[in-house]
Amino acid sequence: MINEHGILVHSYGPHIFHTRRQKVVDFLSRFTAWRSYEHRVMALIEGRLAPVPFNLTSLEICLPDKALKLAKLLTDTFGKDTSIPILSLRQHDNIALRELGNFVYSRIFLGYTQKQWGLSPEEISPAVTARVPFRISHDDRYFTDFFQAMPKAGYTSMFESMLSHPEITVMLDTAFTDIAGGHASLPCIHTGAIDEYFDFSLDSLPYRSARFEFQHLRQQRHLPVAVVNEPDSDIPHTRVCEYRLLTGQDAPETTVGIEFPCAHLPGKTQQSYPVRTEASVARYKEYKKMARTRTPQTIFCGRLGSFCYYNMDDAVLAGMGAAKAILRFLPPRNRPPDLG
Ligand SMILES: Cc1cc2nc3c(=O)[nH]c(=O)nc-3n(C[C@H](O)[C@H](O)[C@H](O)COP(=O)(O)OP(=O)(O)OC[C@H]3O[C@@H](n4cnc5c(N)ncnc54)[C@H](O)[C@@H]3O)c2cc1C
Repeated sequence: MINEHGILVHSYGPHIFHTRRQKVVDFLSRFTAWRSYEHRVMALIEGRLAPVPFNLTSLEICLPDKALKLAKLLTDTFGKDTSIPILSLRQHDNIALRELGNFVYSRIFLGYTQKQWGLSPEEISPAVTARVPFRISHDDRYFTDFFQAMPKAGYTSMFESMLSHPEITVMLDTAFTDIAGGHASLPCIHTGAIDEYFDFSLDSLPYRSARFEFQHLRQQRHLPVAVVNEPDSDIPHTRVCEYRLLTGQDAPETTVGIEFPCAHLPGKTQQSYPVRTEASVARYKEYKKMARTRTPQTIFCGRLGSFCYYNMDDAVLAGMGAAKAILRFLPPRNRPPDLG
């Protein structure tokens, strides 16, 4: 969306397109040209800005006195240009590596995760750091996918182009219950929340939400990179994004968006991130069972229909899969040749 100052911003938080799936790139490229963009993120750690994921540059910035020795120890132990989970450091026999792992855990991961998920430190399992990487290199790109880019004229323009087809009707601000009395008797792909679809009859599924505050600044540039994370648990926001650095828009002033994670209140806030626990996934599976028996012609799709965090490329792939799956409900003569 273009805001009142003429700056292209993302109303629902910063979205960077990245994928390893050529098929998804090929599909979306029918509707947009791309601006090549490699995402970089820094975190404010004890008053200093350092790249995340934590890498050898971050080490030099945060622990300048020990950086040389630690870099050698890391390279000797794990190899050069590798990426290891910080859990491997935290559980290592070598005390210096353990301390380093704990430093990264407490300064970068813990506070951010607490705020993101609304958890106390005790509720965060150390095992989740199995996925948090420590890069033994100076590669400061946030993503390593071969395709990283932004739609040249923005996401709205990409979707406008995708939807401008004589067979497509768009009805905004219309709940599925407003159409044909709700539960479809025709084959249908549903991208809304599965618990809401069934009137929360098995109780609601848990989500985290986020609120965005936008500030317009009368200066050309505000941040060193497009996104700066704020891991300090005493500060309520998690990150700040300067949109012009994502979109490449040339303008004399700039707008930043500040992200405040918050609890999701059904009907009041948007579901941003599914909270997948053993209990919530079990409840989701019960809803899936209900869907199979009660509405077999409805395909639940996307992050809300599948109760799973999706990146945009996952969502596109799931959409392509659902488009194929819905064809089994159509007579063969009505199936488009390239999909059937
Ligand atoms: C803050 C934030 C930042 C993100 N950043 C990135 C990023 O940088 N890169 C990336 O790849 N991904 C990112 N994502 C993930 C990305 O937003 C999702 O991949 C994408 O939105 C999933 O698309 P979807 O179609 O599955 O779901 P949605 O985008 O949620 O679409 C669901 C659609 O269903 C409609 N709907 C819901 N309920 C009903 C109803 N009852 N009746 C009618 N319609 C209904 C909604 O209006 C919506 O249009 C981010 C997500 C968040 C929350």
